[in-house]
Amino acid sequence: MQKNDTAVIDITDIGAGGEGIGKADGYTLFVKDAVIGDKAEVKVIKAKKNYGYARLMQVLEPSPYRVEPKCRFARQCGGCQIQEMSYDRQLVFKEQKVRGNLERIGGFAPELIDQAMEPVIGMENPFGYRNKAQFPFGTDKEGNPVTGFYAGRTHDIIANTDCALGVPVNKDILEIILAFMKKYKILSYDEKTGKGLIRHALIRYGFTTKEIMVCLVINGTEIPHADDLIKALTKIPGMTSITVSVNTRRTNVIMGDSYEVLWGQGYITDYIGKIRYQISPLSFYQVNPVQTEKLYSLALEYADLKGNETVWDLYCGIGTISLFLAQRAEKVYGVEIIPQAIHNARENAQINGIENAEFFTGKAEEVLPGYYEEYTRKHDGQAARADVIVVDPPRKGCDEVLLDTIVKMAPEKVVYVSCDPATLARDLKILCGNGYELKRVRAVDQFPMTVHCETICKLVRK
Ligand code: SAH
Repeated sequence: MQKNDTAVIDITDIGAGGEGIGKADGYTLFVKDAVIGDKAEVKVIKAKKNYGYARLMQVLEPSPYRVEPKCRFARQCGGCQIQEMSYDRQLVFKEQKVRGNLERIGGFAPELIDQAMEPVIGMENPFGYRNKAQFPFGTDKEGNPVTGFYAGRTHDIIANTDCALGVPVNKDILEIILAFMKKYKILSYDEKTGKGLIRHALIRYGFTTKEIMVCLVINGTEIPHADDLIKALTKIPGMTSITVSVNTRRTNVIMGDSYEVLWGQGYITDYIGKIRYQISPLSFYQVNPVQTEKLYSLALEYADLKGNETVWDLYCGIGTISLFLAQRAEKVYGVEIIPQAIHNARENAQINGIENAEFFTGKAEEVLPGYYEEYTRKHDGQAARADVIVVDPPRKGCDEVLLDTIVKMAPEKVVYVSCDPATLARDLKILCGNGYELKRVRAVDQFPMTVHCETICKLVRK
């Protein structure tokens, strides 16, 4: 097949990015926005030797899994990839993704996976789940300020203040900001020229406390007539924190390095389970609080703590999992690379009166081996031990040096929380080749309508 060729194909599979996959005379085509089960007319936009990419021209026979998207921008917007797939089918897709990776990359036998795998945990209402949104600002053809989301793989802004994954109050806040900008002729930042003031609005909402934070990221030192904006924003019930973060760099990084309070306090508070967290504009915090609570409860269940254990929580962020585990362990050590996050973790421990959690700043693959060696030296060659080790790495997974140290410390259990099933499978292969057995695996859908897939696993020492 060649560029611009058209074909009618059956979509028989789903790619890692949520795209539909079908064959035209044995030639594989990846089709964005096509749903598994569709019969569709497609047009080749890029042809490689053995496969190509095609555009969905027309759905001839819709898949039984195809649904009307809730958001009219679902196809253009880069935020959602699979909103046109029924939610039940999305969950099957994610479960199969985990299973496929465990088989192909992890080398696990299908029977073993059958035994370990538990049903995926989905959401009752898979919309409006995000507690955080970062809206970029731009200018439309008429010169009006607009805000919304980036179109897939570009920085073109789709004007939309009403994202289906976010909370309804986002719209009220954004409309206030846009009206304020119009009134005082305040310009949106323009990436091409580096001019204009308003770059992004970060909005956070505490699902349990109903507290709201607005942080405006600006290309300048202050917002003119800010009092007027504050007056309007504070009419919104729950408004707790209004801040600005200065970012004058020509960069894709959204936030500046610091922030200043314009009104109220510099943070909002929220709960996961019984643990209270203070969240500042710069803190990392899980975006789906409903599913996070289920995920952390599972982590606690998989760790199966009795109260006398020593636990390590590697890649601990602001100590979310650590503090959850500390409720049931003798001692929890958290390790995280970002100093600010460790600062938050210590604060969060204090707010909750948790005294058995200790935090270290540094790379997990340096801190844990360092601790292990020093301990062994100080204790006449007796090895440092842990009862449970939890890891929750970024997408690239764990460093091999870290996995080696985990094996040496020989914890009874390892709980692996992963946001990428491919690197998860790779790391599990190493652990299971070195004395561990995969006991339980479960996907928890933290990001409905997207292809992102969170998994939690329990490994037990043989
Ligand atoms: N467990 C936390 C955060 C998980 S996200 C939670 O549930 O909220 C992964 C975290 O790993 C991020 O906070 C990131 O800053 C941190 N990180 C990335 N590379 C790291 C490394 N090499 N060592 C330690 N932490 C790292």
